[in-house]
Amino acid sequence: MRETEEAKAILSDRILSLAESQTIAMAKKARELAAKGYDVINLSFGEPDFQTPQYIKDAAKQAIDEGFTFYTPVPGYPELRQEISKKFKRDNNLDYAPEQIVVSTGAKQSIANAVLCLVNPGDEVIIFSPYWVSYEEIVKLAEGIPVPIMGRLENDYKVTAEQLEKAITSNTKLVMYSSPCNPTGAVFEEEELTAIARVLEKYPQVHVIADEIYEYINFSGKHFSIANIDSIRDRVVTVNGFSKGYAMTGWRVGYLAASREIAAACDKMQSQITSGTCSIAQKAAAAALKGGNASALEMAEAYRRRRDLVLDLMNGIPGFKTYLPNGAFYIFPDVSAYFGKQFEGKTMESAEDLSMFILSDAHVAVVSGEAFGAPQCIRFSFAASDEKLVEAMRRIKNSLAKLQ
Ligand code: PMP
Ligand code: GLU
Repeated sequence: MRETEEAKAILSDRILSLAESQTIAMAKKARELAAKGYDVINLSFGEPDFQTPQYIKDAAKQAIDEGFTFYTPVPGYPELRQEISKKFKRDNNLDYAPEQIVVSTGAKQSIANAVLCLVNPGDEVIIFSPYWVSYEEIVKLAEGIPVPIMGRLENDYKVTAEQLEKAITSNTKLVMYSSPCNPTGAVFEEEELTAIARVLEKYPQVHVIADEIYEYINFSGKHFSIANIDSIRDRVVTVNGFSKGYAMTGWRVGYLAASREIAAACDKMQSQITSGTCSIAQKAAAAALKGGNASALEMAEAYRRRRDLVLDLMNGIPGFKTYLPNGAFYIFPDVSAYFGKQFEGKTMESAEDLSMFILSDAHVAVVSGEAFGAPQCIRFSFAASDEKLVEAMRRIKNSLAKLQ
């Protein structure tokens, strides 16, 4: 988005220097094109294409009927925090008391709360790259300095303990990553996170935000939480939410678990910005957890099948460098083989040019890698039906064949 001179005169430096979320911007473009009558396949947005399970919807209706229409406690209903505490024990073998849990309006807010509570102006925040679009901008809002470190394709884009140690300075305050990762789908194994924790043990000022929102969408086996490592546990903020696993993006419920001090700080932050999240959505979220994770695992099985389908089709597209994503619902191929090629006099200089070409020629919306810190890549979401995925890959292959 380009601000006009008039807007620049009135808006703060803070908002003027903030980048618009590229995932949301691309989804908007796809919707606009579809509204003009084009048959657009939207693989840009990271959103489950499943409906929220019925038992969760029923709990929300019941909450309205029972009168849960008032302000909620800022860190969440005690019932929901209790269920989240039980979930941590059941799934992650983590002992978080309800007082260590803060429920927010989406995991995005949980991350913003934690960053704003931990980062002082000038603090360095190491971000494992490729990273989810909002990390860097949230750090900038807190006046921190983002320090992205790039995982290598040969290591499924995962940053190693050695790379981390090289990047730590006396100004490092925080490390942030997601596992399973958006945008790569990489899943950190227990040994890899243990090695990372061994490095962090040596730097007691460094905290961690472990974003585990794709926990249930894991095709490689066991999810591991870095908070399981006792020596650094109090410095870890574990973030999770309902958007992905339970297909509840629109309900806006996420949460974090942390030391009592950090949790209390996030509670205070939230009390001045949004207060407690929606009463009805919280009742639905509590019901979701009471129902276990069977529906989440069923959806994950569908994503695994689609992952295999897309990967197979993508491997048939010349010039796309792929790897096996072990979780989430994204694949992030290196498409740089197309840089420098032309279509009707226009040269593809970047992943941004290529994704705009794919949108205009194939009518498939994808997100270019620049916003994820990887300008040689494009992100495809495979949270779409088999038919759409097959058709999208067919169209993309045809369009790319036009490039000279
Ligand atoms: N973290 C990651 C890695 C994500 O992909 C998302 C996607 N929306 C979020 C956090 C935020 O999720 P929400 O705010 O919907 O809970
Ligand atoms: N997290 C999703 C994505 O990466 C949803 C959009 C957003 O919140 O940025 O596409």
